[in-house]
Amino acid sequence: MTAARLDDPITVLDGVGARTAGTFAEELGITTVHDLLHHWPRRHRDLGDLGELHDTALGEQVTLVGELTDWSTRTINRGRRLDISEGLVRTQTGDGFRVVFFNQRWITNQHRQGTFAAFSGKLEDFKGRLQLSNPEITRLDDPDDLNRFQAERIQPVYPTTEAVAHHLVARTVRRALEALPTLDEWVDEVTLARTGLLSFDAAVREIHAPTDEDRLAAAIRRLKFDELYTLQLGLRWRRSRLEADRVGIDNAPVEGGLADRYVQGLPFEPTGAQWTALSELREDLAGHTPMHRLLQGDVGSGKTLVAVWTMLCAVDNGRQAAMMVPTEVLAEQHFRTLLDHLEPLGVNMLDGPRVELLTGSTTATEQRRILSGLLTGDVDMVVGTHALLEPGVRFADLGVVVIDEQHRFGVDQRVALRSKRDDLPGEPSIVDVLVMTATPIPRSLALTVYGDLEVTVLDELPPGRRPIVTQLITPRQRERRANLEGFVVDRALVGEQTYWVCPLVEPSEKIDGQAATVAFEELTSGPFRDLRVGLVHGQLPSSEKDAVMQRFRAGDLDVLVATTVIEVGVDVPTATVMVIEDAERFGISQLHQLRGRVGRGGDQSYCVLFAGWRGPLTDEAVERLTAVAETADGFELAERDLHLRGAGTLFGTRQAGTQDLKLASVTDMELIAASRLAAALTIEKDPDLDDHPLLAAQVRRRHRGLEEFAALDTG
Ligand code: ADP
Ligand code: MG
Repeated sequence: MTAARLDDPITVLDGVGARTAGTFAEELGITTVHDLLHHWPRRHRDLGDLGELHDTALGEQVTLVGELTDWSTRTINRGRRLDISEGLVRTQTGDGFRVVFFNQRWITNQHRQGTFAAFSGKLEDFKGRLQLSNPEITRLDDPDDLNRFQAERIQPVYPTTEAVAHHLVARTVRRALEALPTLDEWVDEVTLARTGLLSFDAAVREIHAPTDEDRLAAAIRRLKFDELYTLQLGLRWRRSRLEADRVGIDNAPVEGGLADRYVQGLPFEPTGAQWTALSELREDLAGHTPMHRLLQGDVGSGKTLVAVWTMLCAVDNGRQAAMMVPTEVLAEQHFRTLLDHLEPLGVNMLDGPRVELLTGSTTATEQRRILSGLLTGDVDMVVGTHALLEPGVRFADLGVVVIDEQHRFGVDQRVALRSKRDDLPGEPSIVDVLVMTATPIPRSLALTVYGDLEVTVLDELPPGRRPIVTQLITPRQRERRANLEGFVVDRALVGEQTYWVCPLVEPSEKIDGQAATVAFEELTSGPFRDLRVGLVHGQLPSSEKDAVMQRFRAGDLDVLVATTVIEVGVDVPTATVMVIEDAERFGISQLHQLRGRVGRGGDQSYCVLFAGWRGPLTDEAVERLTAVAETADGFELAERDLHLRGAGTLFGTRQAGTQDLKLASVTDMELIAASRLAAALTIEKDPDLDDHPLLAAQVRRRHRGLEEFAALDTG
């Protein structure tokens, strides 16, 4: 047989014909030898150490070697026919144990009396006799077999489908390993040594045909590294390609300009973390390459100040700034905040900066006015929703883009907004980008999914905040519910407000949970009869939503019954109580977000979680709710959430990359750090991977689905 190569179709392997190849392609997505080798075992099965009968405990998984004697099948009939094949195995030390098989008549034909073999199974005591039932038999007909068997006691278990037998996959992989010469190493020696990694060849062979547990663990570690490394490289490479020859525009703040004056005019002193963020941004804005920075900060950490300042930097340089947020409620609020913050700078006055709001419900006339303002450059700043991505939106000179709640947008949308400079249609953009998220992401995860962003963390809350008191109320504390209602009324009397959040808008047959409309009826006709109560949810027309939000913000409502439309960003400092019904229906980060709606002023705030009122709580729900009640720190919560539920649920599938991880996971912190460092060093020295053809080939293969990687030339 001639040596196979990775890019060959699997039909080059002995015993793989067109039909098998067809099935492999269809069922497992495997066409090339490379695909086959990367069809990783789902897990490994350990047949157990070769044991000795006398030191094996009952119930233990063991492999015992011996000769099969007294081997026969009998049939009994007790209402149902049962074939029992039984034998006695004599071990080399002279002990004996029985093996028994049920309804496997053929087994006495397959293995004859006198067979010398290894028997793997769990040791049982049956009526005083030691036995293995239905053990796996591996024949050891010649002396070499024993050594080989010992070497292969850990066996791969592959993912398969009904149409592909497991042994066929295992055999084909084995054939491939035999047919392949030593696989080329594609990670450089320094990285291998620094990270302490097995060679690629050794790792691939080991995961498919393990020799021992330690080496298998080392192989998996190496292959995890590969996934993370190529992911990081791909992200970095894409970024450097987007920016090849791009000289960023200088958006550094101008001495005595709007940005400066804004910070000086604030009614408070920025926190240390905010100052650090501003200085990092200042460098990015002035730098030679376009800025891509992620600003992470827990709710209430003061991201808005940083965002407003960044936008003003663009205006100081005669350019425009756009801020994109995920919902209309948020867009309106940010717009209002901008107007507030910029009032001292004469916003929307004669010669002050001009700010507009653009959402799906902006009227056609308004829209025309705003779009033409953006195109002529009359409008300096715009806040909006996805509406900003419409083709009709063009800017005269877009300098800064801010994207809030990054995790709700995909990478594509980030790119789409950046490329809205009218002078460079369709060109990769030179615009400076700041993305923000209030959903704290554990650092490891941020480094993976945002491999192409620099990360700034606002890890300090403004002074004077009091920790929010969080309480879980289950049906066992029924009286507390009534107390709470009284408490809400008391708060209203001193001018503080309450959010009352429900999981549903309308009652549902399918989902068990309190509906906002029902809660509104019950509360207004009962305990809150004398209070001013509003209702807001996603099914209201936005004008109505706005009107209600506006009344709540102005203090004209005491209680706002709502769905999660208020989840992100809504900022009403006089709101001090957050009540969440059926809290078990929400995830950790959502609960934390909701809780972040209170505690925004100086007053003591409270968060009450009702849970278990519609049926017993699962252990997972209890853990989740307890975590929220015990922990105020969003980053710590995110870390706990990550371990409770894995990364997928934090992000859905929107972020490129994480779904490509088959072996690695975002909890492999040490490897993530190592791969990120390795990727940064590699790209720095060799931005287009010209000197690393094998590495480039790997990156291209891993990102095969992504069009833009097709251009990555292997040299
Ligand atoms: P988030 O990070 O959740 O967007 P915001 O930017 O909305 O937080 O800030 C939360 C509240 O804290 C706002 O009312 C804001 O005015 C106030 N704030 C921000 N920075 C400071 C500061 N350095 N000192 C005092 N209050 C601040
Ligand atoms: Mg905010």
